[in-house]
Amino acid sequence: MTTGPQDLIHPDDTLADLAAAVHDCRGCGLWSDATQAVFGEGPPKAPVMLVGEQPGDVEDRRGHPFVGPAGLMLRSCMAEAGLAEDQVWMTNVVKHFRWKPKGKRRIHHTPAAEHIHACRPWLDAELERLRPDVLVCLGAVAAQTLIDKDFKVSQDRGRLMPGPYGNVLATVHPSSLLRAPDGKARLKARADFVADLQVVVRHLAGHARAASA
Ligand code: SF4
Repeated sequence: MTTGPQDLIHPDDTLADLAAAVHDCRGCGLWSDATQAVFGEGPPKAPVMLVGEQPGDVEDRRGHPFVGPAGLMLRSCMAEAGLAEDQVWMTNVVKHFRWKPKGKRRIHHTPAAEHIHACRPWLDAELERLRPDVLVCLGAVAAQTLIDKDFKVSQDRGRLMPGPYGNVLATVHPSSLLRAPDGKARLKARADFVADLQVVVRHLAGHARAASA
């Protein structure tokens, strides 16, 4: 019988317990072509939870989220925006890397609805334990999974909204900055992304002021 999230997630599990248990998950077929599951990481009381799509090639090999080129871009933009890494839990909608071969390379392949559905209990378990002040959806897959299936990031990015999990903000996935056609477009995409992250920073600062008043 297949071992899935329903067998591996227990009510009293901590985030560390979940991070250990996810390696045994066979809830969909993605585990078979991946090196390992990549669970979320960060401080267990982080006020911000960043959710991307799935681990990439580098993350799959290293076992940590957002450590590849897009992750480095994200971390650089966070630093520019003033969003400290110790305020953030970073994770993905799907915990195993889906890819297609192209020559010797492994090319990102967007997870299908069945993978997103199968993996959802892991994401919900992270949300329930963290209960972040702000949930940030990075890209369409995260936004359409966590906000609304018809959500359009291009139209509604950078806006803090009430959502089913508290405050939620959607922006692009940092990998899109790397795909900008030229240097000028990349600078603009980066500035827009940093501006979206600064909305979160200002919200946190407002909370901190209110708490100390
Ligand atoms: S992608 Fe998610 S549901 Fe599928 S095997 Fe990996 S952890 Fe389990």
